[in-house]
Amino acid sequence: MRIDGETRVVGVFGDPIKHSASPAMHNAAFEKLRLNWRYLPFHVLPDKLEAALHGVRDMGLVGVNLTVPHKIFALALVDEVDPVARQLGAVNTVHVVDGRLVGHNTDGYGLVKALREAFGLRLKGKRVTIIGAGGAGRAVTVQCAMEGVAELCLFNRTTSKAEELARELHNDFGSVQVTVGLPASRCDLLINATSVGLRAGDPSPIARTVLAKHTFVLDMIYRPVDTKLLRDAKRAGCRVTDGLGMLLHQGARAFEIWTGRKAPVEVMRSALRRAVHTR
Ligand code: NAP
Repeated sequence: MRIDGETRVVGVFGDPIKHSASPAMHNAAFEKLRLNWRYLPFHVLPDKLEAALHGVRDMGLVGVNLTVPHKIFALALVDEVDPVARQLGAVNTVHVVDGRLVGHNTDGYGLVKALREAFGLRLKGKRVTIIGAGGAGRAVTVQCAMEGVAELCLFNRTTSKAEELARELHNDFGSVQVTVGLPASRCDLLINATSVGLRAGDPSPIARTVLAKHTFVLDMIYRPVDTKLLRDAKRAGCRVTDGLGMLLHQGARAFEIWTGRKAPVEVMRSALRRAVHTR
């Protein structure tokens, strides 16, 4: 492995960070394209995010990804926010352009690509249930509205957060019908954007009776790959996918923003699978 004065550096800021699979995915891509670039994980605490972002610019990094808990706070800390990140209310990719920090969000792109790849599904005109109204829930909900879904059903443990999101959608996307409450079984797509399922032995975030055979189910969790929700959904006859596809495609888009090169998606997918399955 060559590291020298010409090595370009990107990375990811998070707290915690040690389980991130992104370094494996990006470094495999750099190796494949013979780019003298490296992707490093950085453990950045919330009260150090501003200083760390200054460091990105001052130390000549090309950019960084941001993960939990930094995506929302970063909106106010970058010099420029691209329209998609502004609409999604979060930044997951920072790119340094002419000394300015430009914030992007590639999570919504990752969702759209993953749904097309797993199910051949396009969101326009669909009825979608989203469980979870945290950072990820918010981003996928707004992306669905941007893609022109017909109906959104929002369900969150803390109902007031889903209600607030519904109000925002009502203002920004008047043509989308939004309801808050228990998921309806008549939806085309159900997305789990909660952290329920992350721990072995976690229950499903919704009752099995809600799952109907015609519904596609995407669980954003990618480790473990076989959550209780996905097991229940498979038993109900649904087509299912885990969160790996979304993670892959948000990473591929970030790679393209930084390098200006087409991402070697299959190399990144294999590296990601290895990283996730060997931990
Ligand atoms: P977050 O902002 O902390 O939100 C957590 C969400 O989970 C909230 O809606 C929260 O509800 C809900 N929740 C937590 N514990 C719960 C429980 N015991 N019962 C019911 N609901 C519960 O986290 P996030 O950033 O949105 O991430 C959420 C999940 O998405 C994580 O599993 C993360 O790994 C995954 N994710 C995947 C990708 C991908 O590319 N595949 C990308 C981003 C995130 P309350 O509002 O009531 O607290």
